[in-house]
Amino acid sequence: MLTKERLILMDKDTINILCKQFGIDEKVIEFVNSKERLIIDKFKYIDKVKEYNQYKVIKSMQEARLSSTDFNWTTGYGYGDVGRDKVEEIYSMVFNTEDALVRPLIVSGTHAITLTLSGLLRPGDEFISITGSPYDTLQKVIGVKGNKVGTLMDYGIRYREIPLKNGKIDVGKVMDNISNDTKLLLIQRSTGYSDRKAITIDEMETAIKEIKKKFEDIIIMIDNCYGEFIEKREPTDVGADIMAGSLIKNPGGGLALSGGYIVGKASLVEQIANRSTAPGLGKDCGLTFGTTRTTLQGLFLAPHIVAEALKGALLVGIVYKELGFEIVPDIEETRSDIIQAIKFNSPERVVEFCKGIQNASVVDSYVTPLPWDMPGYEDKVVMAAGGFIDGSSIELSADGPMREPYFAYYQGGLTYEHCKLGVMKSLNNFYKNDLIEKNKLIL
Ligand SMILES: *Cc1c(COP(=O)(O)O)cnc(C)c1O
Repeated sequence: MLTKERLILMDKDTINILCKQFGIDEKVIEFVNSKERLIIDKFKYIDKVKEYNQYKVIKSMQEARLSSTDFNWTTGYGYGDVGRDKVEEIYSMVFNTEDALVRPLIVSGTHAITLTLSGLLRPGDEFISITGSPYDTLQKVIGVKGNKVGTLMDYGIRYREIPLKNGKIDVGKVMDNISNDTKLLLIQRSTGYSDRKAITIDEMETAIKEIKKKFEDIIIMIDNCYGEFIEKREPTDVGADIMAGSLIKNPGGGLALSGGYIVGKASLVEQIANRSTAPGLGKDCGLTFGTTRTTLQGLFLAPHIVAEALKGALLVGIVYKELGFEIVPDIEETRSDIIQAIKFNSPERVVEFCKGIQNASVVDSYVTPLPWDMPGYEDKVVMAAGGFIDGSSIELSADGPMREPYFAYYQGGLTYEHCKLGVMKSLNNFYKNDLIEKNKLIL
């Protein structure tokens, strides 16, 4: 047996603290360490992307001549908030777009996407989701699920969706379905609560090029949640017209207190800004409440943090794959978001997994997550969310809707070590509660 030799890879004091203070079984520690060796080579690619993106962010901040006085803020209408303008200038440079709207009062990713859709679409317009059903909360925004009042459909906007074909955008079918009324195509980059892989930048580039060749004026919109800084290029580098995301995911770097961003063509951002405040006010009003510093400090850290989270996703992926569970994406597949989905096939496993992640958290480590009726979601959802920022999913977190086939979605982690603790804690729960065959942990 290699047991002793493998354990030696981890510092003795570290093993001690994990066993004695975190109550993790030695077999679990040994198993996770042995699987880590299988993915460590993949960290090199992640670090390369990180390095490039770090320089890109630094250069944007320098180009914008960021200065210490930009962290001051205004009151009242918020006219002349220099820091707010710098944040937006920096975002538009990082994402290679003409303009940006980045505000702490955009309450979530859903809000940013909703502002974008409602700012750009008019009654009678049609939009098509070309990556199948969109994220759960957006179905309520559109009006395909839940109460119709105030939804896009309630305003006379028409909606259709075209499913993915073998996990890819069905470009031929999309082109066949575009009519004179089709104004916008929506691409959701990340997995969402589904079993599909994230759409890669290469795939987006091919699809956008093909569609734009024939339909030059159609607006291509990207829901970029969880996708920022995964690759060197962003969707807006490959032809997307407008893109939205959340600051309590990747680009907030774990430090942004709240907020959302929208980046893209200036004429589109203007319409969205008019919708977000009022026509005529646009981007010129709106307080930042002193958040400029943490928003930018978070953006500065984001390439590094995303790399840590990606390494964590690989670790949780390999550990549960080696135990026989199906994982999406698989270890060898190109990643385009920070999510690792694991098909657990039972509600107990999803809940125990989330409990383990919650127990590994720094904040609220002692609480037990239970499935609940979360606003915006149709099924009950269990969430492990012990972040410094409430609900932040760039921090170590996991969740899953209580529906077949019982996937858990793991994401985030501000340090790789924290991700690893989460993996060990969740596996320890499985081990103790007989949710895996005990002999599977014997190396
Ligand atoms: C997180 C997410 C959203 C928005 O969710 P919020 O919780 O409202 O920020 C939208 N789309 C996808 C794919 C997401 O992952």
